[in-house]
Amino acid sequence: MNKTDFSTLNLQPELLKNVLSLGYETMTPVQAQSLPPILQKKDVIAQAKTGSGKTAAFGLGLLSLLKVSQFRIQALIICPTRELADQVAKEIRKLARTIHNVKVLTLCGGAPFGPQIGSLEHGAHIIVGTPGRIEEHLTKNTLNLAHLNLLVLDEADRMLEMGFQSSIDAIIERTPVNRQTLLFSATYPEEIQKISQDIMRQPVMITVEAEHDHHSITQHFFKVDDNQQRMKALRLLLLDSRPESTVVFCNTKRETQEIANRLAGEGFSVLALHGDLEQKERDQTLVQFVNKSISILVATDVAARGLDIDSLDLVINYQVARDTQVHIHRTGRTGRAGKQGVACSLYDDSEGYKVALIGDYLDRIIESEVLPAERSLKSLPITSSMVTLQIDGGKKQKLRPGDILGALTGANGVKGNQVGKIQVFSQRAYVAVSKEVVSHALNKLETGKMKGRAFRVRILKS
Ligand code: AMP
Repeated sequence: MNKTDFSTLNLQPELLKNVLSLGYETMTPVQAQSLPPILQKKDVIAQAKTGSGKTAAFGLGLLSLLKVSQFRIQALIICPTRELADQVAKEIRKLARTIHNVKVLTLCGGAPFGPQIGSLEHGAHIIVGTPGRIEEHLTKNTLNLAHLNLLVLDEADRMLEMGFQSSIDAIIERTPVNRQTLLFSATYPEEIQKISQDIMRQPVMITVEAEHDHHSITQHFFKVDDNQQRMKALRLLLLDSRPESTVVFCNTKRETQEIANRLAGEGFSVLALHGDLEQKERDQTLVQFVNKSISILVATDVAARGLDIDSLDLVINYQVARDTQVHIHRTGRTGRAGKQGVACSLYDDSEGYKVALIGDYLDRIIESEVLPAERSLKSLPITSSMVTLQIDGGKKQKLRPGDILGALTGANGVKGNQVGKIQVFSQRAYVAVSKEVVSHALNKLETGKMKGRAFRVRILKS
């Protein structure tokens, strides 16, 4: 038996069976190192990033320690963004699918407060949420953490960067002192060391080398003279390789919006993602990017946190990230799931020192490469092949993906292969359809019935 086999852990048989049925054959390094101490109820600090398998590390730990028959809140996972919280809750539900009656509840800002109170009254075993909203529930006494056994701080560095320190402190104050605490963080700055000293008991430290980045991602660097050349370089890189899905990272919100506007002006299929957008706009942007209705997402680091796409073809750093860890995090969004990824970084003289630091980390001397030939500028901008339809009904109306697919592909409908990703949220659902059949698809959904009734449907403009 290999020491990275899940069977070396003392997991319940149904949990182990499920892990294998999910296709997780061996433990990732962060799982192999953190699960043994987690299962021994020790506090753990793990320096691990998105893509390392960290969610399953704490997810399996907490599920195996959970007492399902005691219907009260036993575990709390705090995440920096709603997107990450949704993703974490999804992964935990997936891991828990063979254990009966495990109740996972998300409590995030941006969602209505009232229904969350209702759900809390019904009870839950595991809460996943964002700091502000959890604190609000505690203040209003709608959430009781008196029986908490396990607290997880996910992406702790990002939560501190986003100014959540006081909310986190307030939450911790309302949890039992003898709880187990797990802290996951991509970087390990001083503030994290301090927080861990205050809230953890003799934590086991785990660092996982970001090996993945060296091997499965090809990194290119291009030197530019000024911002005008930077924009041109961006267009050249996009037009030359014509990727289906690209994230362009900028360092500021203003620049994020500006670059997205300029690319849109050139005819590219693009949207911006940054913290100044309303939650609804953010959700719709992510839906359209994930379902391939837009091909380029221009984003800030904070906004792109939690973005989980397996098939991201290209990451472009419009500017080099402010530190090496952030660079590694950005570029680690491509080259996932065993695929080869490509990351291109643009830099000018003033950013040369940051590139040198990245070079030290990657253990190579970085030299500027030659940009693609200018004739690429004459090719047509990248547009996407899909369009998103928004249906004004969701889980609350008991809509399921199968209902939507059925309505679209029923008698004289569109073909199954013209329907893309279907996502059902609580009050809304989104379905991607091929551009050429969009009016036919719209007509089918508007005139047909789902769950015995008609729903309002509209084309989401990108
Ligand atoms: P995370 O770092 O938690 O965002 O996980 C990254 C991805 O890896 C998720 O899509 C997981 O479903 C997947 N994953 C987690 N653990 C394993 C494993 N042991 N083997 C294969 N895939 C895994």
